[in-house]
Amino acid sequence: MKNEEPEYIKLVKETEIFRNCKNIVIGKGNLNAEIMFVGEAPGAKEDEQGLPFVGVAGKNLDKLLANVGLSLNDVYIANILKCRPPENRNPSDEEIRKHTPWLIEQIKSIKPKIVCSLGNYSTKFFLANGNVDRMGEVEGITQLHGKVKIIDFQGLKIRLIPLFHPAAIIYNRKLIAEWEKDIEIVKNNL
Ligand code: URA
Repeated sequence: MKNEEPEYIKLVKETEIFRNCKNIVIGKGNLNAEIMFVGEAPGAKEDEQGLPFVGVAGKNLDKLLANVGLSLNDVYIANILKCRPPENRNPSDEEIRKHTPWLIEQIKSIKPKIVCSLGNYSTKFFLANGNVDRMGEVEGITQLHGKVKIIDFQGLKIRLIPLFHPAAIIYNRKLIAEWEKDIEIVKNNL
């Protein structure tokens, strides 16, 4: 008997970025973790290897984890989009709509107590409770980073810690001091 593919996978496959990517990047880490990190979308290295945060931004995330005393065994890492957008452009609303049912499945199965949302898209997605149409009403990461919020996300009580995207601190060195303060906030919430 043919195994029917879940709807959340079919939705990803309906998008143009699926047709143009080398690998679907599902996630990495411990499926029983209490803390999840959610980024934006795979870049070139991630697309090659089929794993999230293995490129330059990943190095900053690795440092953050080491700094707060966590390893890949303590966390699960995923993204809003499962496939790389061409030239790493921003995710479109349609892509977020069609890729996040898979992320929501992951969250419902992992049931993390803490989610660190990395960057604007991820933070807005959680604060809009997964409703893409409401993401525009949410403040940006510049206002929200480091401000811990207890949210009810799709019926799960989650402590959300919005953080700058680890790639942002590569291009904007001024953010490093803020990033370091936010790392202390993560530490104090574990
Ligand atoms: N940036 C992201 O948001 N996710 C990755 O997996 C890599 C870079």
